[in-house]
Amino acid sequence: MMHLKRVIISLLVVCASPTAGQNMERVRHNIATLCSPSMAGRGYSGKGDKKAAQWIAETFRAIGVKPVGKSYFQPFPIDVNTFPSKMKLVVDGKKLQPGRDFIPSPVSARGKGYLKTIFLSDLARCTDSLIDRLKQINYKKKAILFNLPDYYQLLETCPELVHQLNQAALWIGITDPLTAQIGEQALSPPFLWVTKEVIDSSAQRIRFCVKNQLKKNYITQNVIGYIKGTIAPEKFIVFAAHYDHLGTIGKGIYIPGANDNAAGVAMLIELAHYFSEHPPALSVCFMAFSAEELGLLGSTYYVQHPLFPLASIRFVWNLDLVGTGKEGATIVNGTLHPKEFQRLQRFNDSLQALPKLVPRSPAANSDHYPFSTRGVPSFFVYLMDSSYPYYHHIEDKADKLPLTGFEGLFRLLVAFTAQGVR
Ligand SMILES: [Zn+2]
Repeated sequence: MMHLKRVIISLLVVCASPTAGQNMERVRHNIATLCSPSMAGRGYSGKGDKKAAQWIAETFRAIGVKPVGKSYFQPFPIDVNTFPSKMKLVVDGKKLQPGRDFIPSPVSARGKGYLKTIFLSDLARCTDSLIDRLKQINYKKKAILFNLPDYYQLLETCPELVHQLNQAALWIGITDPLTAQIGEQALSPPFLWVTKEVIDSSAQRIRFCVKNQLKKNYITQNVIGYIKGTIAPEKFIVFAAHYDHLGTIGKGIYIPGANDNAAGVAMLIELAHYFSEHPPALSVCFMAFSAEELGLLGSTYYVQHPLFPLASIRFVWNLDLVGTGKEGATIVNGTLHPKEFQRLQRFNDSLQALPKLVPRSPAANSDHYPFSTRGVPSFFVYLMDSSYPYYHHIEDKADKLPLTGFEGLFRLLVAFTAQGVR
C-alpha cells in the first residue's frame, strides 16, 4: 500500500511539473529488472554484466538513443575474482548464511576444512609484546579470528606481521556491518568476513568451504549512446552511471545494488526518454560504465579510448547512489566548479527540487574522477538519506528503495542541461 501511494503521488507531481518527463512506475520497473536474479548482481559470474549491458543497449535503441560508433558496446578486459559456487561456514555446529551472516573477502582464495580456532586480540597496535605473541603461535591447520578493523590497523602499523598470519588455513575477520567488495586477485589463505552478531572470540571449531573463480582477461563492456544536438551537435553533455555491481556471493545469492547503481541507470534511461522527446541544443551522451566497483575501470578505459574528443565534452554528470534523497544531495566537485554549483543551487531554489545541495571537494570515489583528472568539468551527484543503511549489502533491494529525491534530481538535471552549460 505504502509503495502504491508513493507512485500515485509521484505521478501527480510529474503531471504538474512543466519539465517533468520521467515516469516513476517505469523507474521502479527498470530498477527491479536490473536487480532481478537473472542479472546476478550485475557482476562477472552467470554473465550478469553481459545481460545488464544487453538490456541497457536494447532500452537505448527502443528510446531512439543512437550508438556513437557501430555498436553501443565498448569492450575491455578485466581480471576479477568471483564466487559463483555454493559456500559454507559452520561455527560450533551452527550453520551460517552466506550474504546475511558472512561474505568472502574480495581477494579470498578457495579452501575447505574442519579447523580449530585461535582468536587474535589487540592487533591494532604494533607493540613488541604483540610481535612476540604472534611469532610464537603455530598457525598450521588453524582458523584465525580477529576484528577486521584491527587487521586493517595491523596492515598499516606492522605489515611484516601479516606475512606471519599467512600460514593459517583460514582467516575470519569479524565486522559489522558486512560491506561487500570485489577484487582483481585471489590471495591465500581463504578469508571470510563474518558479522559480529553470529561469531565472537569464544568460537572453537569451524567447518568451511569457499570456492572462488579468478577470471583473467574477462571481457566486460561499457554501454554508450547519444542523442544528437540541434544547435551545436559537436559539443556534448555526458550523463554517466555505472551499471555493474558486486555479483554473486555463492550459488544463487547475489548483491542486487538497487541504490548502487540500478537507480543511476534508471535515471539515465529517464533522461534519454526526456531528450528524445525534447531534442537538446548540444548533443547528450549516455554512458553506462562497467567495472566501477573494481576501481573505476570502465570510465578509466573510456577516457583512455574516447569515442569523441574529451575536449568536446562541456560537462559530465556522474549519477551514482541516486535512489534516496530525503536529506538532499551531495555534489562532489562542487567546490572545484563554484560557478556551476551556484547555478545548480539557483535552479534548486527556484524549482524546490531537493531539500539541500551540499558541495564537496574532489574525490576519487566514482566515475567522474577519470574525466576530472583530464580536465573535463564534472559533478558526481549522490542523494542522501541516513535512514537507508544498505550499502554493498544483500538488502540493497529494489522494493526497499525510497526514491524520495529521484523526481527532484531529474528536474534539476533537465533544467541545468536545457539552460546551463554552453
Ligand atoms: Zn558501489
